Amino acid sequence: MAADPGARDSANMRLRRGARPATTHSQPATSQVPLVLSGANVVMPTGTLKDGEVVIDGTQITGTAPENAHRIELTGHYLVPGFVDIHNHGGGGASFTSGTPNDVVTGIHTHRLHGTTTLVASTVTGDMDFLTQRAGLLSELAEQGDIAGIHFEGPFISPCRKGAHSEELLRDPDPAEVRKLIDAARGHATMVTLATELPGGIDSVRLLADHGVIAAIGHTDATYEETVEAIEAGATVATHLFNAMPPLGHRQPGPIAALLEDERITVELINDGTHLHPASLQLAFHHAGADRVAFITDAMDAAGFGDGRYMLGPLEVEVADGVARLVEGGSIAGSTLTLDRAFKRAVTIDRLPVEDAVAALSANPAKLLGRYDRIGSLEPGKDADLVILDADFDLKGVMRRGEWVVEPQLG
Ligand SMILES: [Zn+2]
Repeated sequence: MAADPGARDSANMRLRRGARPATTHSQPATSQVPLVLSGANVVMPTGTLKDGEVVIDGTQITGTAPENAHRIELTGHYLVPGFVDIHNHGGGGASFTSGTPNDVVTGIHTHRLHGTTTLVASTVTGDMDFLTQRAGLLSELAEQGDIAGIHFEGPFISPCRKGAHSEELLRDPDPAEVRKLIDAARGHATMVTLATELPGGIDSVRLLADHGVIAAIGHTDATYEETVEAIEAGATVATHLFNAMPPLGHRQPGPIAALLEDERITVELINDGTHLHPASLQLAFHHAGADRVAFITDAMDAAGFGDGRYMLGPLEVEVADGVARLVEGGSIAGSTLTLDRAFKRAVTIDRLPVEDAVAALSANPAKLLGRYDRIGSLEPGKDADLVILDADFDLKGVMRRGEWVVEPQLG
């Protein structure tokens, strides 16, 4: 079924009333005293520790608990690393492409309430002046540590696979223009999604790789051979595999086969039950392996907010029963997913081991961002970013950098 139609969660209402940005004002949680979260199933990279504990001192996870530590008993719960979303356009009624800085913070906070402690803000296609301006605004939020970087989805994508992007604003990937976006982002450009088969595509991939920016293949009409060429040039991510690309054909395997078979590629999957059939998700996991999948939301404004009319860039979107579609043409237009729901689907409906779900939601995207030394697992020395889930995998607490975003609800 589709994303949770309820989406107007109480957490969000709290935010709207208080309009309190999370980033700088979240409540001090651990006070000055070290905190021990004990008795939980702690999901570690090597497996799940039953009756394990995680010690938090200040903003970090540490190894041993001092005598004076405060304890919270989490028997019957799971402790997993905070989720990392590398492809997210907004939430809480706010858009990362068009919102004010305050709106952007609202969107970030909405996703934090659902366990996403690290988020890359994604833009949709716009004209170059608009996107460079946007890069400037978002880079300030990156400098403050509110977002982990900027993902430009478009304008360098294929008109044949445009999805919810304005066709008249699409353009071929000219390396000079790609460079403009990188420069405008002042070191915070994380990823660019492009159709690498278009003129200038391969040179643009090389340019991105040379600048340490992820070249992501997506909204593409490439053949299998063209996709292989882009991977050889340095592309390392498949933007929402299966969506906005030719399907797998037995004589024309297209980009999907090339992206699944190459170990250098991490494949993004939107696990909301709308974008992908569960069998397609299984196929991706089977072929790529759990170490090469990153669950993303591809969320738009309605995530954590509710049904209604929204704008996605310049295009109008109708959200009904949690499914976002363009008013004109009816294309799926992003999701209303939050990563806590992606996690729950993964372990309940898709029957993935919890360790694989954690890999896809935390460790793999953290590695892709080059930040696995700080985030992505519950190991001593890393940031205290974690999520508490109950036995049904419903979210019961969120901590970011040692502060509770969602206080533990253990009743
Ligand atoms: Zn997207």
